[in-house]
Amino acid sequence: MTLKSTSRKKAIHVMLCYTGGCNGCDIEVVNALLSPRYDLEQYGVMLTWNPREADVLIVSGVVSWQMLEPLKKIYSLIPEPKAVVAVGACACNGNVYKNLVGDIKVNEDVYAPVESVIPVDVKVPGCAPRPEEIIQGAVKGLPKLMGAP
Ligand code: SF4
Repeated sequence: MTLKSTSRKKAIHVMLCYTGGCNGCDIEVVNALLSPRYDLEQYGVMLTWNPREADVLIVSGVVSWQMLEPLKKIYSLIPEPKAVVAVGACACNGNVYKNLVGDIKVNEDVYAPVESVIPVDVKVPGCAPRPEEIIQGAVKGLPKLMGAP
């Protein structure tokens, strides 16, 4: 048993990465993870900005070209096993940005879905999804962290 697997029994560290959406999803993610209403810290869910410490990566928004390499770098720095949760319709399928082809080309200046850039384990659709749905999505990633097939 590794130190990481032992620590995961006590606390799951979640990292957020905003990659180019309208910030609607980001507000709901912050609501889900940080607001006193849900108070996830009481269950051992901690927010981190250090990818080396993270277990779950939550990505919201399409991936702008400026965030393409940073997102890949963040993903590569998170130790295995890790789970990636794509939050919101933009991250899951491009959403409104699909209609901007011509002005902003999907898969040239804007990359969507997120799984075209990094592997995604859980998708949480919605524009924007509710905090409860985001929490459910993060929980769905836990079996992978615990070594389930
Ligand atoms: S899914 Fe909707 S709320 Fe979320 S970033 Fe895209 S447009 Fe904004």
